[in-house]
Formats: sequence, structure tokens, C-alpha cells
Amino acid sequence: MANQDNGLRQCPTRIDGTGVLFAHKVSHGQCQDRQRGQYHKCFTCAYNNAYVAVNGMPVAETLATASDSSDESVKVG
Ligand code: SF4
Repeated sequence: MANQDNGLRQCPTRIDGTGVLFAHKVSHGQCQDRQRGQYHKCFTCAYNNAYVAVNGMPVAETLATASDSSDESVKVG
């Protein structure tokens, strides 16, 4: 399912897909700022830059980006 939150990402999003007790939405810039500050949850997060470099973006954001870049219109009715 595509991300419907204007590019916001769930912080944290666990690499192994397990749920988290406390999560919230952050922008791409907030995520990068936290990673620079060595936020303690980033090391096991699927949005961690080191993890993304090897494995790519988490599926939800990949779908959202793909749907944003599509220039095909959808006809309804
Ligand atoms: S990499 Fe860090 S700041 Fe970014 S979403 Fe994951 S836990 Fe949050």
C-alpha cells in the first residue's frame, strides 16, 4: 500500500518488520537530521542510510515514489 502521508515515514520502521511501542511520522529531512545525531533507534531501522544503500528503500516509500512519478492519468467512470 502506498504511503499516503506526503512522504512522511514511520519512525522507526524496524528492519525485521516487528511493531514498535512508540512511533511517529517524520519527514525525510527530520530523518536525516536524526541519523546525523545518532538517534538510538536508527541502527535497527529500515530507513537507516547504511541499510538503504544495500537494500533499497522500504517498500511503502518505494511505492509512494513510483506513484508520484507516474505521468499516466487514471480514468474513472
Ligand atoms: S532512520 Fe532513524 S530517524 Fe529515520 S525513520 Fe528510522 S529511526 Fe527514525
